[in-house]
Amino acid sequence: MKYDVLVVGAGLAGCVSANILATKYNKKVLVLEQKEHIGGNCYDYKNDQGILIHKYGPHLFHTSNTKVWEFLSQFTQWQPYEHKVLAHIDGKNVPIPFNFNTIEMLFESKFAQGLQKKLLKKYQLGTKVPILQLKADSDQELQFLADYIYEKLFLNYTAKQWGLKPEELDSAVTARVPVYIGRDNRYFNDTYQAVPQDGYTQLITNLLDHPNIEVKLSTPFVFEKNRQQQIIYTGMIDALFAYKFGTLPYRSVTMQFETHPQKFYQEASTINFPNEHAFTRITEFKHIHPSLSEATTILKEFPQAYKKDENLPYYPIFTDANQKLFQKYDNYAKQFPNITLLGRLAEYKYYDMDDIVERVLEHFKL
Ligand code: UDP
Repeated sequence: MKYDVLVVGAGLAGCVSANILATKYNKKVLVLEQKEHIGGNCYDYKNDQGILIHKYGPHLFHTSNTKVWEFLSQFTQWQPYEHKVLAHIDGKNVPIPFNFNTIEMLFESKFAQGLQKKLLKKYQLGTKVPILQLKADSDQELQFLADYIYEKLFLNYTAKQWGLKPEELDSAVTARVPVYIGRDNRYFNDTYQAVPQDGYTQLITNLLDHPNIEVKLSTPFVFEKNRQQQIIYTGMIDALFAYKFGTLPYRSVTMQFETHPQKFYQEASTINFPNEHAFTRITEFKHIHPSLSEATTILKEFPQAYKKDENLPYYPIFTDANQKLFQKYDNYAKQFPNITLLGRLAEYKYYDMDDIVERVLEHFKL
């Protein structure tokens, strides 16, 4: 097929782009993907037990953006799903984001009530307070609480996840899991929260199902051969330019799946282990996608540094130094008006799935 646009990467950014180019602009699109499957890190599949699992870690869709929700709803039915996470702290599984229920489970009742009163005096009900902000509070009791949450929930988890201290990362990273003033145990409080009824791979298959779109799997992209082409590039920006300014650090994760001969393994979808084990969290997929299987499949996530050809890049690492290096690449990319950079790896941004769709819709002015 002769094509108008080359899309590099069949993850969410690439496939939403391909769909829009084909359907709204009537362009012929070739999607190149180096993995042997579509979907990027959203890829899911049914394992031998018939349980739908997320190969690259738990993906829970949530957004407050109606445009994003309506766009994706053209390609999937949804199964309502509100993610709940527990953290194993002081021998107990307690709800996070850390909220009033968490305080009551960890502290004796009078002290817990005092803390809640103080928090309510300072912050409105429903406020999300980043831990690094709470830590700067001058009140003695609130400082005690902040230090407790910092030590027991954030410090060691962040060391495992990023190899860094919370304050070494951009404050937006730990602010993703704030301290919540109130009793909402949900991990997200967006308007729309759901998982695709038949999974992300099916949703992405539907995005690509158009006569103008051709997909080539297991096909690495070679920039030199495509210099003149219109390109949407969703891979690593440093790889695109042959690492000319040095390697941009990404974080990787080894996913360890285990199937156990029991109906359920744990009480919640995800339990975080800030202070024990080399893995950060355990996710049990049956809590996300119900299944009649007699067995259950869990996932333990072991974060590590990304190493070319050894593991896969999952997360950009949001520090000042890395942003500076990314800026160098991004400025250099401006010399190539035929290339558009989109997505987590290409833009070196900690995008969630809805952020990516929003970004692509905005790029195409939809
Ligand atoms: N975090 C933490 N302890 C937790 C959960 C999160 O320290 O129990 C911090 C950690 O730095 C993590 C960040 O908050 O990387 C964002 O967490 P989130 O669950 O949003 O990460 P993701 O699901 O994207 O891996």
